[in-house]
Amino acid sequence: MPDLPVMVIGGGPCGMEATRGISDLGYNVVLVDKAEFLGGNPIAGDYAALTPDMRNAEDAMNEMIEAITDNPLIEIRLNSSVVAAEGKAPDLSVTVKNGKGDEKIDVGSVIISTGFQHFDPGKETQIYGYYEYDDVITLVDVERMLKAGKFVRPSTGEKPKQVCFIQCVGSRDRQIGNQWCSKVCCGIATKEAIEIRDLVPDCKVFVFYIDMRMYGFWEDELYWKAQEEKQVNFIRGIVTEITLRGDGVVVKGEDTTMGRPMEIPMDVVILSIGMEPSKGSTEMAKLFDIPLESHGFIETIGGALNTVQTSAPGIFAAGASTGPADLEDSISMGGAAALKACAFIRKSQLQTA
Ligand SMILES: Cc1cc2nc3c(=O)[nH]c(=O)nc-3n(C[C@H](O)[C@H](O)[C@H](O)COP(=O)(O)OP(=O)(O)OC[C@H]3O[C@@H](n4cnc5c(N)ncnc54)[C@H](O)[C@@H]3O)c2cc1C
Ligand code: SF4
Repeated sequence: MPDLPVMVIGGGPCGMEATRGISDLGYNVVLVDKAEFLGGNPIAGDYAALTPDMRNAEDAMNEMIEAITDNPLIEIRLNSSVVAAEGKAPDLSVTVKNGKGDEKIDVGSVIISTGFQHFDPGKETQIYGYYEYDDVITLVDVERMLKAGKFVRPSTGEKPKQVCFIQCVGSRDRQIGNQWCSKVCCGIATKEAIEIRDLVPDCKVFVFYIDMRMYGFWEDELYWKAQEEKQVNFIRGIVTEITLRGDGVVVKGEDTTMGRPMEIPMDVVILSIGMEPSKGSTEMAKLFDIPLESHGFIETIGGALNTVQTSAPGIFAAGASTGPADLEDSISMGGAAALKACAFIRKSQLQTA
């Protein structure tokens, strides 16, 4: 059997690492992304600095892109999507569609790394008024401003005096069926709080949380730094309503530590939106006949011992397509999937030799 390529679907951090790993192992790889650029959400969402080390996100993604550019083993297809798959790995024929038409490509294995999408804060959480009030924005909107080197009140363009983050918007919410913690938003909000304090030192910053989930070193590198060095105010509380008063917004709710109602005027309210399964992940699961797990992400069946194995032999899933994941998780899973995919092709070759 000739060396068939691995197809990687999705060129975010996870898919780029998978692609690099496959080529490092000496196998051919076809990387397909529906977007016109590589880099996934960190590029599409204009992320500014990455947690926890504040590395410039564009530089980090460019480093990953460079590692897979101009390599004879790697074929990159942008503006392309997978629309059909016939057969079973390692004898798969995958149809890729782009502006010029459809093309069938024979592949030995597939890695799905089609990632996540940001929760739409207008969907079920109208109490926050994201689409009504200019000064209610999201973590991603803040990244865009920080990337441009500024942080202003959107309605006036002026520097804000008092801003707050509301945690768990679209996550840990049984009412809307999103019964998961998105894992990164406590860290991202804390990182942005630090950056806002640096850019606008006179601005008071509050974070309203259910409980802060700063796992691993993020606790030390972000949370305590924000609290002790940058005087960010973390308040355990529930926000029940945001209303307009004068030319500002008012956050109403309950300070659950003190057990008393709160009503605080804010210049900017930032919604810490979480992760949801992307449309591409749902579509790819259907196309390759892989079940979704109970929250709607792609199901992997190997538990902690094999994080990228799906129920379809030779088809692997990795990164945020399988559940909430930070960059470390996504990139590690991309590397693991690369190894598994190449091993799958190699074992298939040995069996037919
Ligand atoms: C506001 C915010 C800030 C964040 N900042 C950080 C941070 O500082 N540090 C950190 O560790 N994590 C951060 N994260 C998490 C980080 O974004 C994810 O861990 C990471 O993007 C997941 O990588 P991925 O490659 O799995 O998916 P994605 O980044 O979602 O990439 C998926 C790729 O698949 C492509 N795709 C989708 N559907 C298809 C399809 N049908 N066909 C072809 N291609 C398709 C997309 O175009 C995209 O390129 C942040 C998350 C949020 C919400
Ligand atoms: S990481 Fe924090 S903000 Fe995000 S869902 Fe989990 S607890 Fe809520």
